[in-house]
Amino acid sequence: MSTINTFDAIVIGSGISGGWAAKEFCEKGLKTLVLERGRNVEHKKDYPTMTSAPWEMPHRNQIPLADKLENPVVNKCYAYKEDTAHFFVKDTEHPYIQEKPFDWVRGYQVGGKSLIWARQTQRWSKYDFEGPGRDGFAVDWPIRYDDIDPWYSYVERFVGISGNKDGVETLPDGEFLPPWEMNCVEKEIRDRIVAEFKDRHVMIGRCAHLTQPQEHHLEQGRGQCMARNQCYRGCPFGAYFSSNSATLPAAAATGNLTLRPDSVVHSIIYDDQKGKVTGVRIVDRHTKEVSEYFAKVIFLNAAALNSNLILLNSKSARFPNGLGNDNGLLGKYVAFHNYRGNISASYEGHEDSFYFGRRPTAVMMPNFRNVKSQEMDFLRGYMTFYTAGRGGWGGAGDAPFGEEFKEKNSVPGPWGVFMMMQGETIPKETNFVSLSDTEKDEWGIPLLKIKVDYDENDEKILRDFFEQGTAMLEKAGCKNIRTSDSMQAPGLDIHEMGGVRMGKDPETSLLNGWNQMHLCKNVFVTDGACMTSTGTQNPSITYMALTARAVDYAVKSLKDGLL
Ligand SMILES: Cc1cc2nc3c(=O)[nH]c(=O)nc-3n(C[C@H](O)[C@H](O)[C@H](O)COP(=O)(O)OP(=O)(O)OC[C@H]3O[C@@H](n4cnc5c(N)ncnc54)[C@H](O)[C@@H]3O)c2cc1C
Repeated sequence: MSTINTFDAIVIGSGISGGWAAKEFCEKGLKTLVLERGRNVEHKKDYPTMTSAPWEMPHRNQIPLADKLENPVVNKCYAYKEDTAHFFVKDTEHPYIQEKPFDWVRGYQVGGKSLIWARQTQRWSKYDFEGPGRDGFAVDWPIRYDDIDPWYSYVERFVGISGNKDGVETLPDGEFLPPWEMNCVEKEIRDRIVAEFKDRHVMIGRCAHLTQPQEHHLEQGRGQCMARNQCYRGCPFGAYFSSNSATLPAAAATGNLTLRPDSVVHSIIYDDQKGKVTGVRIVDRHTKEVSEYFAKVIFLNAAALNSNLILLNSKSARFPNGLGNDNGLLGKYVAFHNYRGNISASYEGHEDSFYFGRRPTAVMMPNFRNVKSQEMDFLRGYMTFYTAGRGGWGGAGDAPFGEEFKEKNSVPGPWGVFMMMQGETIPKETNFVSLSDTEKDEWGIPLLKIKVDYDENDEKILRDFFEQGTAMLEKAGCKNIRTSDSMQAPGLDIHEMGGVRMGKDPETSLLNGWNQMHLCKNVFVTDGACMTSTGTQNPSITYMALTARAVDYAVKSLKDGLL
């Protein structure tokens, strides 16, 4: 075992969850190696488009047709544009096998998808952790809200989350910076909805933006959000949270971090003689050279489906079907969020009002279905988001040139309202990922096969959203209400979860209540792969809190000689 290749801890992946693992280990004094398959991306230096105007881009920020034809999956992602394309994986570069349609959107670089996420952050409530056990699906979570509550606070303070303290049990408050504001139409819709529907709450979205940076954010070199809404390019102010602007610099500042980009993790090494995991095998992205790194503890943070892939590919005499996979459940019970439902409407009134800036969040409504008991003919429910805005501004298509053009373009158009759902899906054994027996990528790693689909429960949730969304907008005074089913495949939600789920029983789960593998105690999985169920909330803040909590436990266990 080479000493230069030996560390206290190894973190696989440098995205949202890996960045947190790195920061926590380094700050607790452990020499930590972060292995990242993609290229290095340094905050600011490697954000080539961060201040570009459309006319400075060859295609005026559009994606050329050839790219669309070559990369049909990533082109479905709304955030994939000329100014952000360099942070997304191209379909052609990293193929996978869709046994059923699945749009797998990835970001392979230092920082992972933390550079290109939409930054919406809501805590889970106690009802979300109780859900599977109470309603009899998946397995019971081994933890409850109180276990994670202090860790939410811990990560929120560092990240910087803007939000209003609404005092709503189904979407608990956190450590908030000042909230963004609803515009006048959004407020009016809110007032009418809460007046008519006593079981519903409407609040401004909570998001990882510095609306009022605190001392520790300024010390991180991060500053005030300017509401430019060009976040997906990388923010020169560090005003939204990313690994690159926040956790990785904090880890590096300790002197304990070794970051190795271009290191494609092939597998985790289980030493059959020692009866434990000793390290990680990588393939250099460029040279294809294989090397091994060793540590006392391994954190797997390659994002949900890649973490499944790495574990499935970590085969040994002891674990011929993948690391820790005695029960055969590795890769199974994958779930996601159902984003298929959209509703648009028009709104009359407030023609004399406008709003300022490009707010990076929407209005949100926590789930109101099956919250305290099973009431509907479907399991679980959905969050609802809506925004109101004025159309036509800056682009009257029929305007002639000259003075009339200027005049038409200086008048904002009518108010429009857009509403969408974020539905919980039920983890099922039949929704799973596995490895190809025949096809490998250019690093010699089997391709991932994905077999994940909607079911009747998702269709019922969608119908309920259409009915309830329409009813709420009608009561709010909206006109021309139109529902539309995007029919999008699973995956495009980019909230894939599960496959390495947490649970109380090693017979029915892979991880215990500390995200620790039941059968390999020095391996922890703290990205979306660990999720027992999906909740209806945007998931990343929960991955961050689980990661910080698991590192704390791992370091204590190391000190106690338990790992
Ligand atoms: C457009 C968009 C909008 C989104 N909006 C939101 C939102 O509003 N709120 C929210 O909560 N979430 C949102 N998400 C999802 C969010 O980005 C993910 O939940 C989050 O990034 C997951 O963190 P992670 O650490 O698991 O994975 P990632 O951030 O993807 O990081 C994983 C890292 O592991 C690396 N890796 C993968 N395989 C290997 C390997 N074999 N060897 C070495 N390294 C490897 C990858 O290159 C990557 O850097 C959005 C995502 C996108 C793309």
